Amino acid sequence: MKIFNTLRRSKEEFIPINDKVVNMYVCGPTVYDLFHIGNARTFIFFDTVRRYLEYKGYKVNYIQNFTDIDDKIINKSIEENRTITHIGEYYINEYYVDADNLNIKRATVNPKATENIDEMISLISELIDNSFAYVVDGEVYFSVRAFKGYGNLFGQDIDTLKSGSRIQINDKKRDALDFILWKKSNENEPGYNSPWGLGRPGWHTECCSMIYKYFDKNTIDIHGGGFDLIFPHHENEIAQIEALSNKKLANYWMHCSFLNINDEKMSKSLGNFLTARDMLKDYSSSVIRYSILSVHYRTTLSFSDEQIKASEKSLYRINNTYKSLLGFKNSNNLNDEFDVSFIYDYKNRFIDKMDDDFNTADAISIIFEFIRYINKNINSLSSIEVEESISIIEDFYNIFGIRSCELIEEECVLPDDIINLVRERYIFKKNKDYQRADLIRNELENRGFILEDINVGTRVLDANTKKVISTIEDIL
Ligand code: AMP
Ligand code: ZN
Repeated sequence: MKIFNTLRRSKEEFIPINDKVVNMYVCGPTVYDLFHIGNARTFIFFDTVRRYLEYKGYKVNYIQNFTDIDDKIINKSIEENRTITHIGEYYINEYYVDADNLNIKRATVNPKATENIDEMISLISELIDNSFAYVVDGEVYFSVRAFKGYGNLFGQDIDTLKSGSRIQINDKKRDALDFILWKKSNENEPGYNSPWGLGRPGWHTECCSMIYKYFDKNTIDIHGGGFDLIFPHHENEIAQIEALSNKKLANYWMHCSFLNINDEKMSKSLGNFLTARDMLKDYSSSVIRYSILSVHYRTTLSFSDEQIKASEKSLYRINNTYKSLLGFKNSNNLNDEFDVSFIYDYKNRFIDKMDDDFNTADAISIIFEFIRYINKNINSLSSIEVEESISIIEDFYNIFGIRSCELIEEECVLPDDIINLVRERYIFKKNKDYQRADLIRNELENRGFILEDINVGTRVLDANTKKVISTIEDIL
C-alpha cells in the first residue's frame, strides 16, 4: 500500500509501526457552528481511509479532537451571551448528529481541548525549561529558530517562510514566525490558571498535546487534516513535539485538498458555505459521500449542483446492478458452471487503486467497468458468480460508507397532468410571459410540487420531502 506523504512530497510504501494496528489522528472541527461540506470532505475522506484500513485487517485507533476553546468560540459566546462550555457542548452534539447522518464512523476517542489543559500546560512548561519557548507578559511563544527542523513539512526553510509569510510582527515575538503557545486572557475572557497567569492554550498546542497524551508519547502512523493545515498548524505541531523528543510525531502526513465553490475555498469566514445539514435535506448521505469520493482527495473538488446530480445518477446505476444481482441470487435457474477468476480480477484492480494512495476516483471507474460487464452477462452467471459479484459491490459500499438502503428508488413518476403543466410553464417562461409562468408555478405548489430554477434548468421537487423528483431535461 502506498501513501502520499506530505513530509517528503512523494508516495511511500505504508509500513505501520505495529503490523496489525494503525494509530491515526485527524484534526477535528472548531465547535462554534454546524460544519460545512468543505469540512465534510475532509471528515468523509479520512473516514474512508479508516474504513479501508479496517477492510485490510488493521485495527485502527482513530482519534479526532474537538477544538472547544478558541477565539471564534469566545466571540460566539459573547454574541450569544452564553458560556463557551455551552457553545462547545451544543455544537459537539450537533456535530455528532450530522456526522452520524453522513455515516462517518465515530472515532475511537474524541478528546476535547478543554479537558486536556493540564497536559498542555506541562508541555509548554517543558518547552520553556528546554529553551524552546519564552514568556513575555503572561504569554508564551515558541522560538522557531531554536528548533532545527522547522519548515520541513511545508518544504521551506525559515528565511523563505518568513519572507513569504503574511504573519504580523508583534512586539512580543522575537521572530515573526514564532507562534503562541499560551495566550493571555483578558478579564472578561474565559481562561485557566497557569504559571504564566490566566490564559488559554494556542490551537497548535492543543492538537499535539492530545496526540502526545492519547498515544502515550509514541510516534503515530498517520496524521491527517485539510490542506490548509500543513502550514502553520501541522508544522507547529511537529516543532513542539520533535523539539522535546527524538521521536517523530507522525510517520505519514496526509492532507485532503479543498472543496471549492465558485473557485473559492468554502469556509465559514468567507461566508460562502453550505452546511452538511442543508445538503442532507436534498441528498442522501450515500450520494454526498459518493460525490465527494469520486474526485481524488489531492485534487480540488469544485462543488456544484450539476456534479452532485451526475453522481446521484451514477450511484443509482451501480445500485440497480446490485439490486438485479440480489434478485438473481434467489432465482433457481442459474448456471452451474462457474469461473470466478474474472470477478477476482475486477476486485484486485479495485484494491490496487485503493492501495495506490486511496485513489477512490479510479476505484469507482473499476466498479463501473465491473457493472458494465455484469449488466451484459447477468443472464449467464452461476450462483457462485452472483454471490461473489454481490460481495464486491458490498465491499465497495462498506469502504465508501454507502448505505444501499438509502438508495431505494421511489416510484417518482409524475402524473401526466403535472408533466403537462411543467411543460406549459417552460414555454411561457421561454416566451418571457412570466405572469402566466408564475400562475402555473403556484398551481403546482398547491398540488404538492415545487419548481426550482437552477443555473442549468428547472427541477421539480416534492413539496413535503423537498426531494428532487425530476428535471426539465427529463420532462421535455
Ligand atoms: P475547522 O473547523 O475550520 O477547524 O476545520 C476542520 C477540518 O476541515 C480541518 O481539517 C480543515 O482543514 C478542513 N477544512 C476546512 N475547510 C475546508 C474545505 N473548504 N475543504 C476541505 N476541507 C476543509
Ligand atoms: Zn490539529
